[in-house]
Amino acid sequence: MKEKEQIFKLREELSQHNHSYYVLDEPSITDFEFDVKLKQLQALELNYPELYDASSPTLRVGGEVTKNFETIVHAQRMYSLDNSYSKEDLMDWEVRLRKMVDGPIAYACELKYDGASISLTYENGLLVQALTRGDGTQGDNVTANIKTIKSVPLKLQGDYPYKFEIRGEIVLPFSGFKTLNEEKIAAGEEPYKNPRNTASGSLKLQNSVEVARRPLECLLYSIVGENTGIQTQFDNLEKARSWGFKVPNVAKICDSIDDVLEFVNYWDVHRHELPYETDGIVVKVNNLFQQAELGFTAKAPRWAMAYKFKAEQVSTLLEHISYQVGRTGAITPVANLLPVELAGTIVKRASLHNADQIDKLDVRIGDWVYVEKGGEIIPKIIGVDLSRRKQGSDKIVYINYCTECESPLVRKKGEAQHYCPNDMGCSPQIIGRIQHYISRKALDIEGLGGETVALLVNAGLIRDYADLYELTADQIIHLDRMAIKSADNLVNGVQASKEVSFERVLFGLGIRYVGETVAKKLAKHYKSIKALSEATLEGLETVDEIGVKIAESVVAFFKNEANIRMVSRLILYGVQLELSEEALSNQTTQLQGLRFVVSGIFETVSRDELKELIDSNGGKVVSSISAKTSFVVSGANMGPSKRTKADSLKVPIISEKEFLEML
Ligand code: AMP
Ligand code: ZN
Repeated sequence: MKEKEQIFKLREELSQHNHSYYVLDEPSITDFEFDVKLKQLQALELNYPELYDASSPTLRVGGEVTKNFETIVHAQRMYSLDNSYSKEDLMDWEVRLRKMVDGPIAYACELKYDGASISLTYENGLLVQALTRGDGTQGDNVTANIKTIKSVPLKLQGDYPYKFEIRGEIVLPFSGFKTLNEEKIAAGEEPYKNPRNTASGSLKLQNSVEVARRPLECLLYSIVGENTGIQTQFDNLEKARSWGFKVPNVAKICDSIDDVLEFVNYWDVHRHELPYETDGIVVKVNNLFQQAELGFTAKAPRWAMAYKFKAEQVSTLLEHISYQVGRTGAITPVANLLPVELAGTIVKRASLHNADQIDKLDVRIGDWVYVEKGGEIIPKIIGVDLSRRKQGSDKIVYINYCTECESPLVRKKGEAQHYCPNDMGCSPQIIGRIQHYISRKALDIEGLGGETVALLVNAGLIRDYADLYELTADQIIHLDRMAIKSADNLVNGVQASKEVSFERVLFGLGIRYVGETVAKKLAKHYKSIKALSEATLEGLETVDEIGVKIAESVVAFFKNEANIRMVSRLILYGVQLELSEEALSNQTTQLQGLRFVVSGIFETVSRDELKELIDSNGGKVVSSISAKTSFVVSGANMGPSKRTKADSLKVPIISEKEFLEML
């Protein structure tokens, strides 16, 4: 009995020491004492397997091996952040905010930690799941690895909610990065490039023992969940800290954009004293009700803004220019540079965008150019060091012919990009279109990857995506075995894609300017490819969010005989080219012609569900009240000035219940 009590006591004690050391940065015992106690606990736990506890400090050393990380859909999407670079950007943002919320706006300013984002789920005070951001919609389950990070509490203290998600950044502090690299160099291995990539790479290691060895830290910055009872972002941070999370205490409440800029300027200098990398400031509307009012765009919350510190620059030699041909035939000039280190990575190439950009910069082969890396992956050339220009250098003559198929290039009036018009005979276009068709957000064909597509095209087995449906395992088996894991898988994957919904197929067709969202709109509106193919320019333009450019592109696509043939073949093979019965039955036109403003917090449905309901019943959601608004659907906490505006324009305000009764 005594031994069992000893186990509980040691677990409690060691957790406390962990917290003091890794979260508070105030060690309460020596490392040696800690190790002795940990060994004691390990020995005792061996004798009492029935007392297994997933939050025991002994589990911090890792041991679990994950072969394949399970992909899990985020309960709440992990968004990215909008970026700003100047006072003007922030002021513009504030103007937008003022149009959408009432009352004074206070901002919570935090540092933007540069690592890998993570979302942790706690239930009953215990860590139950850790997901990477992935594509924002779904991430990888890396729980076993995250448990080895000592500043991640396995068990919470205080008055935490029963279930919630908390988000933060996994960073590798400079000191740990240095130690890891010293070991690498001592072992004669290539050192790691920068802390951020090492941190995110660490999360995906298969052996958690290896992760435990890396001195990673987890810094938290937001609590997600509807009923936490917390009212401001600042309180969110304080609460999280009280439950045992590591929350840096640099956050500050600012009442004006000027105060925000003061915070930015201070940290632009002092960030170099921090133990880890930061790449900017994150400014958040402090009041969570105001946040709920503001909501999200397709990419980012409207209530937050990143302010990026000035990007780093270097100068290097422009060796030559090459040209890439995209799936739509668009030509992109690429600068090939003398490799140079920039912000921790080696840069060899930079995008030059188009002919105009080359003209504007007047870059020439052999020039020393300034290269800058902001948040984007591909660095850009921002200027030429004219003092180092060689005498007699020539202006760059842009290509007239496609580098892949030698067709003369065309450039439409008003467009910056040159195009190769040979869409049926230019190999990167043929391959690119099929690669797009099979990509994850389109048909998502399992067993078939981008390289295999190129292989199949080059072997003459397919020329367009409709050909995929005629592929047989026999044909594929003869190809490079290394590249094609299993012919059967591939064929089955292609067959399974016949279940994919119309909107995704429509996106997969690769009509220029028809992205994911536009495809959804078009699918909903026209309901079948047949109706869409017969649509006129004028008709298309009446569809919500469809402008001339998209309308013209759709009409042009269906004017092309080859496309019509391809689509007819897809129909023949059984690919979904109309809305399913189910999708149709969820759609009505009951709200057609009506425009709604949604404001406040709702009880039976979430704000997003409410908007979805309006949308799928033919109504339109708009963000601000005008004379054209038909109804304001109001929940709790609707702002007083919205109410006044609605009243003065005589726009009826209805409750959630009244709205639902309309359907
Ligand atoms: P970006 O990836 O540039 O769109 O920036 C968004 C990312 O910034 C988020 O996914 C977070 O991982 C990260 N981030 C770092 N610090 C913070 C912070 N204090 N608040 C919110 N996001 C942060
Ligand atoms: Zn071409």
